[in-house]
Amino acid sequence: MPINIAIDGPAGAGKSTAAKKLAENFGYIYVDTGAMYRAMALYFLRRGIDGADEAAVAAACGDVEISLDYKDGIQQIFLNGENVTGQIRAEEVGRMASLTSAYGPVRKKLVELQRALAGRRDVVMDGRDIGTAVLPDATLKVYLTAGSRVRAERRFKELEEKGVSCSLEEIEKDIIDRDYRDMHRELSPLCQAEDAILLDSSDMTLEEVVRELEELVEDAGTRGCCGC
Ligand code: C5P
Repeated sequence: MPINIAIDGPAGAGKSTAAKKLAENFGYIYVDTGAMYRAMALYFLRRGIDGADEAAVAAACGDVEISLDYKDGIQQIFLNGENVTGQIRAEEVGRMASLTSAYGPVRKKLVELQRALAGRRDVVMDGRDIGTAVLPDATLKVYLTAGSRVRAERRFKELEEKGVSCSLEEIEKDIIDRDYRDMHRELSPLCQAEDAILLDSSDMTLEEVVRELEELVEDAGTRGCCGC
């Protein structure tokens, strides 16, 4: 049975950076499921589909093929064969992903892909519903969170370093809106799985989060019988 590590939590909690590092340290594959929802959202945006129009989004789902590959260990995401890894991080794509991820046909398609990947390989998979819905029997489940202000400050710093001008208040508002939508949707809402370990990274550095996760993975019995 492959080892499956599920890391869920709200936007900007540091899941992807920590999960990536963790996967690298253990030689597992990192699967960023948010990138899949973003790639689908990019398709809807390109087609000019209204994210609030559930029927139009559902009808378009049949035309979308999402796939993953790895280049130098880094996840590359493909939308109908086109590598869109560099195009899915825009704020409008994130907003569209948050809207359209609430719809059944979008989730069904991506959850199938996520389960297929986790069934074949040892993975660290991050998202919103991995421990609760995608991989209910995961080897280890972690719910990684942090206060909304801390998460907004981290995002603000990232954007500032990229030379993008932005307002901390607007970023925090966007994060709070996104959390609300993700936590209150009908299908697979964001919540901590009963058997997930809560990790609040508000006062932790990335290194501390990764160290803590490494200990949790080791404690979950992922080593061979002789500790190899
Ligand atoms: O994690 P990221 O911000 O890239 O995710 C974008 C959006 O995709 C989230 O706001 C959420 O609505 C959706 N998502 C989801 N389930 C997942 C991963 C992401 O609904 N497993």
